[in-house]
Amino acid sequence: MTDDDPSHAMPTRLTRLGRSRHGLINPPVARGSTVLFETMDALRQSGRRRYEHALSYGIHGNDTHFALADAVAAIEGGSNTQLVGSGLSAITTPLLGLLRSGDHIVVSDGIYGPSRRFCTGMLARFGVRTSVHPPAAPAGRIADLFEPDTRLVLLESPSSDTFEMLDLRAIADLAHARGILVALDNTWGFSLIRPFEHGVDLSLVALTKYASGHSDLLLGAVTVNDAALWRRVRDGTAELGDTAGPDDCWLALRGLRTLDVRLDRQGRSGLAVARFLAGHPKVARVLHPALEGAPGHAIWRRDYADGGCASLFSIEFADGIDAAAVDGFVDRLALFGKGWSWGGFESLALTVTGGIVRAHGVPVAGTLCRLHVGLEEPDDLIADLSRSLDLL
Ligand SMILES: *Cc1c(COP(=O)(O)O)cnc(C)c1O
Repeated sequence: MTDDDPSHAMPTRLTRLGRSRHGLINPPVARGSTVLFETMDALRQSGRRRYEHALSYGIHGNDTHFALADAVAAIEGGSNTQLVGSGLSAITTPLLGLLRSGDHIVVSDGIYGPSRRFCTGMLARFGVRTSVHPPAAPAGRIADLFEPDTRLVLLESPSSDTFEMLDLRAIADLAHARGILVALDNTWGFSLIRPFEHGVDLSLVALTKYASGHSDLLLGAVTVNDAALWRRVRDGTAELGDTAGPDDCWLALRGLRTLDVRLDRQGRSGLAVARFLAGHPKVARVLHPALEGAPGHAIWRRDYADGGCASLFSIEFADGIDAAAVDGFVDRLALFGKGWSWGGFESLALTVTGGIVRAHGVPVAGTLCRLHVGLEEPDDLIADLSRSLDLL
């Protein structure tokens, strides 16, 4: 169901992917649980064809899901995409489907908090052990954690909240030499990096963020580039009963049409805001891999060949500014909403406290503030931040 031509640039492809075949530009929203067949034989055949885009039962998707799944697979450069109900489910569903009791996995200390809690909570209860590496660890240090039962590494680059970059290719080469699968939470890099070209086996994305772009839905995508792995992911999702609502899929497909313009604008606005903050005396460090001179910048330049970046980053304040002061700074902002998630059209700010004690291997002196820059005029955002910083 796609007019995609991979030789075209991403902005062109985003206008062509997942289009309707029936005269209208966009596929309609198809809703349904039961699918009717002429004969019992046809009904049984459809179940066997659930790895293709064949209608069998509502939970396995319909044309609305297939249009979005095809589009996401093409954007990621993979062969197949499984859609699930949330970004978190895009992490938990394939891990539960692929792992078994006695297995061992290696994850970064910088992965999304709920992913981490899933590993140390539910996976641990099911007898899967997790080792944790520092977020900026070099590949060799990560490979030192590999054991005979290690089955998978779960990476996130840049990390949540502290934005360390990992050398994906080097880690993947060491993992593959031991037959270990490499899963990447690619939410930050979605459409900006092609994960399979860096050795990733499973790319996990919260479409909730920039893909939908309007803060009005939750959706996740698991993309692979291997037929056998696709069958395992599809079977695991079916066994767990995860699925995605067609209305959300339709909205996400609509969001994809403007993904490139939003990301381009928000990425550049985010960098403008980051540069202002980097020059402010009350800011010790700006943790944004696309910012010149910031930690992880060399890996970002190498791997994000088109120069795009997300508009989510953190700042670390100068000594003596404690968590309560950072809360005050965030509370005083008028144009930055206080709330979870990111990737929408509006700016957000959060105080990052709790388990995070270091960023880029260096202890964080105070408390971090995570900023998401939306589609507002950057000068307005900078004026808002400047006013609140003056009162710190
Ligand atoms: C938000 C987020 C998720 C989870 O997405 P939800 O749709 O909110 O469940 C996963 N990974 C990262 C890096 C995220 O930022």
